[in-house]
Amino acid sequence: MSDCDVDLFVIGGGSGGVRAARIAAGYGARVMLAEEYRVGGTCVIRGCVPKKLFVYASRFAADFEDAAGYGWSVPQATFDWPTLVKNKDAEITRLEGIYRNNLVRAGVEIVDSRAVIEDAHTVRILKTGARIRARFILVATGGRAVKAPAVPGIEHAITSNEAFHLERLPGRIAVVGGGYIAVEFAGIFAGLGVATTLVHRGEKLLRGFDEDVRDALGRAYARRGITLCLQTGLARIEKAVDGLVVSLTDGRELHVDQVMIATGRMPNTEKLGLEEAGVQLAANGAIIVDEMSRTSVPSIYAVGDVTDRVNLTPMAIREGHAFADTVFGNRPTRVDHAVVPTAVFSTPEIGTVGLTEADARQRYGNVRIFRTTFRAMKATLSGRDEQVLMKIVVDGETDRVLGVHIVGDGAGEMIQLVGIAVTMGATKADFDRTMAVHPTAAEELVTMR
Ligand code: FAD
Ligand code: NDP
Repeated sequence: MSDCDVDLFVIGGGSGGVRAARIAAGYGARVMLAEEYRVGGTCVIRGCVPKKLFVYASRFAADFEDAAGYGWSVPQATFDWPTLVKNKDAEITRLEGIYRNNLVRAGVEIVDSRAVIEDAHTVRILKTGARIRARFILVATGGRAVKAPAVPGIEHAITSNEAFHLERLPGRIAVVGGGYIAVEFAGIFAGLGVATTLVHRGEKLLRGFDEDVRDALGRAYARRGITLCLQTGLARIEKAVDGLVVSLTDGRELHVDQVMIATGRMPNTEKLGLEEAGVQLAANGAIIVDEMSRTSVPSIYAVGDVTDRVNLTPMAIREGHAFADTVFGNRPTRVDHAVVPTAVFSTPEIGTVGLTEADARQRYGNVRIFRTTFRAMKATLSGRDEQVLMKIVVDGETDRVLGVHIVGDGAGEMIQLVGIAVTMGATKADFDRTMAVHPTAAEELVTMR
């Protein structure tokens, strides 16, 4: 194309878009990137990063309690929510600056505006009305929280977006949903001393995770004082003089100060001009792509949450990188979506990689299960009544480790490393011949027989 202004126009400055733009620019492409909110996207601005900072904050109270058994007397600790929010905001602003600088240094032109697609090679910048002709367009617009179900009074509820900026820490909160976000935020609020109720339509939290993990989390949350209202849902939210009254479908009533909805996210594809340009969407609005992240229009690609494949930051980054390698680096690269280590930053934490026991049984039939539950050494003197769970799912025919599931302190850190072994196709015998590191919790992974 001789009449193009840029080689690549990236819509969305989140995990996937930023990586793709930088790598493409590194290959010599002329790249422009439009971001309508803040560079860094969901993960940096209102997802993984601020969430993890809140998780750290929420764990100190239990640490103070646990210290007593080790001889410490901790004076009555107090917590100041505005300080946490202010310090978190400063860190996010610092990170946003780094993301911007990295883009600029790579030679990417940043446009602070919403952008929409006009046709297979044209993007319109809404702030200026400018039309940019691009050889390729990458849609990396992510997803957004949806408030479901749409019950009367739902406007009184917040989502994770607002939870990061509440002026006051509520005394009582109902968190609705049973996925990653609901579970993580219930843990955060409970750790910060908020009377927390988790309302979920399912029988257990975290559908799709291994059943033993789901059971362990349910027990741990109940023990940590989180009230679980399961197999029920929202019927109505009403304002009251002292907060909100939440009516549940099973007739129960909750009196709270905030309701946070975490019932899932939707791909950001509305009013983007996609259908008009011929880009095919799935029923839930996600962009349909092939294994190279190419849409039904050859010059338009899409990566990250907007494609609703595996909605995690490292996946968006990997897809963005692979796109740039494929299109500008002359190195066609597919992304493996099969073995994806992941952590839920609940307290206790969850780390999981590979197949659940149920999935493995369905796919392989003959599987061997190794499972242990034990009290972590740290919990002995602290007296904390909580069990660590570790479970290994093994193919009975080949001895290959198909899945590993951990609930307990440091599970996220552990699963990153176990993920290497599982990705490499390690067998149970490989785990067994690995020397233990003693005394650790992780050593159980190589000593289970
Ligand atoms: P995003 O990061 O969402 O970026 C999309 C960007 O596009 C946004 O900045 C948006 O403003 C911009 N945009 C949208 N439309 C337009 C337009 N028309 N024009 C210009 N700009 C536009 N994942 C993990 O791996 N670990 C975690 O711990 C984790 N925690 C999370 C916690 C929360 C509360 C949430 C909500 C998500 C979390 N995630 C986590 C998921 C992770 O944030 C996403 O998978 C990741 O951000 C997806 O990256 P992306 O590039 O696809 O989209
Ligand atoms: P999830 O899809 O993980 O969970 C949504 C939850 O809401 C499910 O429990 C679902 O129930 C429930 N739900 C859906 N619709 C309704 C409804 N109409 N009424 C009542 N309940 C409903 O979404 P999240 O928003 O928690 O997170 C989005 C994604 O972001 C995650 O899937 C993950 O990919 C990513 N993320 C990753 C994190 C990490 O890596 N640590 C942290 C946070 C987010 P059911 O199970 O019955 O369908």
